[in-house]
Amino acid sequence: MQRFDVVVIGAGAAGLFCAGAAGQRGLRVLVIDHAAKVAEKIRISGGGRCNFTNREATPAQFLSENPHFARSALASYTPQDFLALVERHGIAWHEKHKGQLFCDRSADDIIQMLLKECDAGQVTRWQPCCVRDVRPAPDAAAGRPRFELDTDRGPVGAHHVVVATGGLSIPKIGATDFGQRLAERLGHRIVPLRPALVPLTFDPAVWAPFVPLAGVSLEVTVSTPMPEALQAKRRKAAPASFVEDLLFTHRGLSGPAILQISSFWVPDEALTLDLTPQRDLAVLLKQAKIGSRKQLSTAWGIALGEAVPQRLAQTWLATQAHAVPTLRPDALLADLRDRDLEALGQAANQWTIVPNGTEGYAKAEVTAGGVDTRELSSQTLESRRVPGLHFIGEVVDVTGWLGGYNFQWAWSSGMACARALEPA
Ligand code: FAD
Repeated sequence: MQRFDVVVIGAGAAGLFCAGAAGQRGLRVLVIDHAAKVAEKIRISGGGRCNFTNREATPAQFLSENPHFARSALASYTPQDFLALVERHGIAWHEKHKGQLFCDRSADDIIQMLLKECDAGQVTRWQPCCVRDVRPAPDAAAGRPRFELDTDRGPVGAHHVVVATGGLSIPKIGATDFGQRLAERLGHRIVPLRPALVPLTFDPAVWAPFVPLAGVSLEVTVSTPMPEALQAKRRKAAPASFVEDLLFTHRGLSGPAILQISSFWVPDEALTLDLTPQRDLAVLLKQAKIGSRKQLSTAWGIALGEAVPQRLAQTWLATQAHAVPTLRPDALLADLRDRDLEALGQAANQWTIVPNGTEGYAKAEVTAGGVDTRELSSQTLESRRVPGLHFIGEVVDVTGWLGGYNFQWAWSSGMACARALEPA
């Protein structure tokens, strides 16, 4: 049996980063991945340029049933620490809006950096290689390793096992629920998994008028009630809300606004969209009515302004006019009652729609839920049930907002774990 101080399962963002840091502390580290290529999710991230962190990351941008869990790891390895590493490797980067940092050239720069860090720590890598079983060894005190693993390349003994197998998103590049199943088998609770940072879909009958708008985008405010599991105890939570771009698709809605809110959305719950966050449409329509000879459709287009594409303005009006007969697009504004105009304006400032689902793991950027953090140390990411077993990265019930936060969690949790690992 080959022996290592640490076996890391999963050579993605968290696994490679943890392995390199542990190796550089002098530990004998083996990383195993069942995929032929490492870190494929980094390669496809951020449109190929990897949004590798967010300068403004704080625990407030992470969802978990245990909202304070991420605090310790995020404080002990910060976005600035990771940026310093990126700069030491001479990787050119730039900042997009809201603190998001991207590679200038390619996401491959981050992968190569992680591999160099692993080389510096003399990390052994096996891939493609499947792990068939992980067994805590009951008689470790007798000088035997604390874990025995069966792999495609034979049995392995390890003092620590670090599970970094990620979430279920994008199964075609190797995502599995190996980590969650292993955790469950070893007595851990799993917070139910669900696709997050994912486009939302609508009943085709409801969505039919909007299908021709696929590709239209605009800035909106989107909100949904805060799910009970994420509400701070004894305090009624404000709704989750984001001001971001919305994108119409053939089956529903996407774009940053929807990806963000999807992490909070629960089935059957409504979304509220403000199509003109800067304009009170009820007020504008009533003002426009004074002395007007315009048709509603013309006045409506003007009230919504340039930020809302005309095709959307008119399609949206047609769907509402259908519901309220007096609000026909060709009606004269002067003939309409103030209270109908008010209702119309409010309906666009608070457009309430109920998605019928999500595009699922095939399109989700992340998986929310995972290994329950109440059974892990927030300082070391070690299991409270099985000494020497650690869970890092997306496999854990910590999910970041869109904007580089998920990679920062991979780095921070990976480093917190690496610093806690001991030689056999
Ligand atoms: P992963 O990086 O997914 O790594 C898990 C590894 O485990 C993989 O290499 C996989 O092959 C391996 N594995 C799985 N099962 C097994 C098994 N049974 N045996 C052995 N190995 C196994 N986040 C950001 O912060 N910024 C972005 O720009 C960004 N863009 C994204 C774009 C897309 C399209 C997607 C899908 C995600 C994006 N994310 C982004 C999210 C980010 O990629 C993940 O949160 C992050 O990669 C999680 O790191 P991880 O190491 O936990 O898991």
